[in-house]
Amino acid sequence: MKPHTPSLCCRGSLRAVARPRYASIAASPSPPPSASNPSPIPTPSPKSSPGSNPRRWLGIIFVGVSAAAAGAYIRSQSSDSATLNPDTFTKYSLVSREPVSATSSLFTLRPRKPSGDNYDVYEEAWRVGVWSVMFKQPQLQIGRDYTPLPTTAATSLSVDDENEGCLRFFIRKDPFGEVSRYLHSIDVGADVELRGPKIECAIPSETDDILFIAGGTGIAPALQAGYSLLSRTNSERRPRIHILWANRLKDDCAGGQSDSAKPQPRGWFSGWFGSSKTLESKKQDAVAVMEDKHTSLIVRELEALKSQYPGQVTVDYYLDEENTFIGKKDIMNSIQSTPTDSSRKSKLILVSGPEGFISYMAGPKLWAQGQELQGPLKGVIRELDLKEWGVWKL
Ligand SMILES: Cc1cc2nc3c(=O)[nH]c(=O)nc-3n(C[C@H](O)[C@H](O)[C@H](O)COP(=O)(O)OP(=O)(O)OC[C@H]3O[C@@H](n4cnc5c(N)ncnc54)[C@H](O)[C@@H]3O)c2cc1C
Repeated sequence: MKPHTPSLCCRGSLRAVARPRYASIAASPSPPPSASNPSPIPTPSPKSSPGSNPRRWLGIIFVGVSAAAAGAYIRSQSSDSATLNPDTFTKYSLVSREPVSATSSLFTLRPRKPSGDNYDVYEEAWRVGVWSVMFKQPQLQIGRDYTPLPTTAATSLSVDDENEGCLRFFIRKDPFGEVSRYLHSIDVGADVELRGPKIECAIPSETDDILFIAGGTGIAPALQAGYSLLSRTNSERRPRIHILWANRLKDDCAGGQSDSAKPQPRGWFSGWFGSSKTLESKKQDAVAVMEDKHTSLIVRELEALKSQYPGQVTVDYYLDEENTFIGKKDIMNSIQSTPTDSSRKSKLILVSGPEGFISYMAGPKLWAQGQELQGPLKGVIRELDLKEWGVWKL
């Protein structure tokens, strides 16, 4: 069976023209002159003064106008806007960078200029689903996308920070990566320019169940999806998310304990969500994990989401170094145990992580005509031939 129609629920971008994954800022759809692509400036000849040659005057005027246009373009790209927007870069400052593991950190950024509108911009994006913002590397004029983390009970943001429009990001330092290395090298207090939001996947309003398969920093969109989905909880509706999170090292998810460490014969809604442990004792476990200073900040965030929405979130951890990998069986356990209750209308599998991880799970994404497309469903999920589940690669 063909995959569910994800294109109806998820869209690539708010912008008319999608940018490549590793976008160069200079490579905008219609590049005007820019710092990295300056207009040629003729060198004045010592033999003739401008006054002696009207064509030279025209040339100087042309160059002057071009330079002014280039300046205006650069200024428009690095605008003075105090509010995050998808068209121009907005200045933020790096408030803190806390290590999460040997290779990743939690970044907190605050808008340089106060703006009451940022809160609304973020709220709208959270309401829709999974979103990202682009960070600019000013020396190379390139940009990369990163995923804001939701604010949970475990968050390091104070109410003031939240009101001031702070954003937090979980960023892995790629030892050979241009932007992630740059972000790990700048000083606290430095300016960082952001552009967005860009909607990566709009979670349909009727979605009740999400299975999120995450690799490494792919957990950031999982936190977003959980936050967005679960905030739709009301007295008649209890959406649920199950996260399978794979990491290379234990250090990447220190303190994380799988909710279904062993396959549960009763499945994830009776087993994972309704296991023998009472909600109260699960809450106590979550508090203990959150208070343990060895627990990774991201695991704390996951535990906070669990305590905020008891019985609606489960997480299972997989570690390369312990030879535990997300396999067909794990995915099938998740799928087979969802209730067939007709009131649960829409079910979604989201896959997020490094390119190789996404390809293995669901086939590679494709590039065509300057746009990133989902590409056909392949990989493990295709082989499982899952009915009723939409699949979206992030
Ligand atoms: C929507 C979205 C959200 C994201 N959210 C996050 C997030 O929250 N946190 C996070 O950490 N990451 C996130 N990413 C990934 C992030 O955007 C960057 O891709 C990542 O940080 C690497 O960027 P970089 O500039 O540091 O590395 P790059 O310079 O892009 O290099 C990446 C790797 O490719 C190799 N490489 C580069 N050029 C070549 C070449 N020509 N040939 C062979 N190898 C090459 C480099 O050696 C390096 O190992 C997200 C990506 C997307 C698309």
